Amino acid sequence: MERQVWWNSIWKLLFPVKDFCLFCLEKSPSAEQRGICGNCAGKILQISEDNKACSRCGYFMGENNCPNCRTWTEMSLRVSSVVPHEGMFRELIYDLKYNGRKDLAEPIGYLMACRLKKLGFTEKIRAVVPVPLYFSRQSERGYNQSLLLAKVVAEELGKPLWADALAREHFHHPQMVLSREERMKNIKGAFKYSQEKKMSGSTILLVDDIITTGATLLACADVLRQAGAAEVYGVTWAAGYNVKMMEKFAGSWFYYQKVKENKYK
Ligand SMILES: [Zn+2]
Ligand SMILES: [Zn+2]
Repeated sequence: MERQVWWNSIWKLLFPVKDFCLFCLEKSPSAEQRGICGNCAGKILQISEDNKACSRCGYFMGENNCPNCRTWTEMSLRVSSVVPHEGMFRELIYDLKYNGRKDLAEPIGYLMACRLKKLGFTEKIRAVVPVPLYFSRQSERGYNQSLLLAKVVAEELGKPLWADALAREHFHHPQMVLSREERMKNIKGAFKYSQEKKMSGSTILLVDDIITTGATLLACADVLRQAGAAEVYGVTWAAGYNVKMMEKFAGSWFYYQKVKENKYK
């Protein structure tokens, strides 16, 4: 174990974690309840202000047109994301998913809720629905990261969490190994709606960790619409981005890479 990592572990044992920002580890009187200080939250939320995102799929497209959602047929879905899927932001979600860092759902979910509040999408939301995991994956990992995020988002927005509104219908191949077209085909019919919740005419907020092609969120939105939802919003932590923007904005995105090397974990 590296010395810094070891020291941070001891430090966290000695002092209550909630007093520290998970990102910069400063003991800050302005620290929010969700484990992130106001300074770090402000800097991360500024990224989506500075980098124009597609209003439909959340892709950070800069000055260009969005290449990501051209083939979308589902008209009722609008997705927003907090950060580009790159650098430390990518590692944060990886740690949440694969390294058992469930505590990261707190600041990440908090920032997702902040982003939605800024966009003014929150008032008409009837309920918050997580994208479900395959049963086999969930029992392997012990938790669904999207549910952890949805819980925090729902609390922050003061909306009900419908944790079981969607379920996985069939076993499908993991999306990562498939091409874009294969993904779209693979995911169709992968979800079903739990009939107990009534939602005719409602606006539903879907929560997932990342949006890539959008196939998963589109399939979920389709099921929710068939079940009576009038509108579906999606929120994810990270989205794809126009690589040309990298050079221009790398400075502000990778500020956190430095923080991570020194302190995070
Ligand atoms: Zn901080
Ligand atoms: Zn788009």
